[in-house]
Amino acid sequence: MKPLPPGSTIGIIGGGQLGRMMAMAAAQLGYRCHIYAPEASGPASDVSAKWVQGRYDDAQALLAFAKGVSVVTFEFENIEPAPLKPLAAKTPLYPPLSALEIGQDRIREKRFAADCGGRTADWAEVNSRADLDIALVKIGVPAILKTVRFGYDGKGQARIMRPEDADAAWEALGPGAPLILEAMVPFQHEFSLIVARDSAGRVAFYDVPANVHKDGILAQSTVPAPDPVLEQVPAARSFARKLAEKLDYVGVFTIEFFAGKEGPVFNEMAPRVHNSGHWTIEGAETSQFENHFRAITGLPLGSTKTRGKMIQMDNLIGDQADDWLELAAEPGVHLHLYGKHEARPGRKMGHVTRISE
Ligand code: AMP
Repeated sequence: MKPLPPGSTIGIIGGGQLGRMMAMAAAQLGYRCHIYAPEASGPASDVSAKWVQGRYDDAQALLAFAKGVSVVTFEFENIEPAPLKPLAAKTPLYPPLSALEIGQDRIREKRFAADCGGRTADWAEVNSRADLDIALVKIGVPAILKTVRFGYDGKGQARIMRPEDADAAWEALGPGAPLILEAMVPFQHEFSLIVARDSAGRVAFYDVPANVHKDGILAQSTVPAPDPVLEQVPAARSFARKLAEKLDYVGVFTIEFFAGKEGPVFNEMAPRVHNSGHWTIEGAETSQFENHFRAITGLPLGSTKTRGKMIQMDNLIGDQADDWLELAAEPGVHLHLYGKHEARPGRKMGHVTRISE
């Protein structure tokens, strides 16, 4: 890939906090960002050169948007791939559409992970109330019923702890949307791999954060992860390498794992930068955001080496961001606020990173 000169414009589909932090990293490298999103404004609008309002399923509008940029990327995976196809035929789009198609569909994702030699939770497709009963016999309880597509931050999920919970779970998610029932994986730790791959196939791994979720939403990431996680990193990395090669991936992607008894259990993959990689802004020599742009613009990948001994990233969810002044006063804390106007429960408003030497 011929390196994209500074001063070029990059298109980002999606205008949330990931788009905001992406645009900030792109600016550092001398690029300008145009955002395409359905809302009138968003966290990324404060820091980008242009905001184009358009629907994600409007292929014509997406095509017109791409005319003004040299390369297009996206900041979240819940976009239909079909309207992006005409755009991808005319303008370089990274990561590849195949990664988007797989990353947004829990069933395709699990099949793909298995093809790459990964282990997943036992699962079954659920398209009717009767399917759910059959799936529960196969999988047992506890289990989690999830929408196959368009779930995020614990949305589109219902736990089935006892067989009697099946009706409530079905009511909450069905009928209509395709569902998947997953066995609940017993784990001590969750962790994620944040990986950058360039167009020449060079791969760079970040140190692995251990992640704690609350109500299905990431609450905290810490680096280094505890020893039982570190033992599983080589297996997780060789799996990730295979997966990236099969997709001919360009950019940053993330795979979330459970540290299972017999090794890493694949949970899901995100074809994008990830909340569990926000610590890399101050905690690594090159952030996940910068390396994403380095990969998609043909620059050499930057060092992913960790800075500091212990790093902790805490999300500020809902009214936790009200403490911004106290947090700003804490020595050494790196406070990030996403410029969202309304602090709804469960909404990611910002994060803080603490690094100790
Ligand atoms: P997900 O959106 O699928 O990543 O789910 C959000 C969080 O719910 C995960 O990070 C886990 O903490 C929990 N979770 C989801 N699926 C499972 C599972 N099959 N077994 C155990 N915990 C799960």
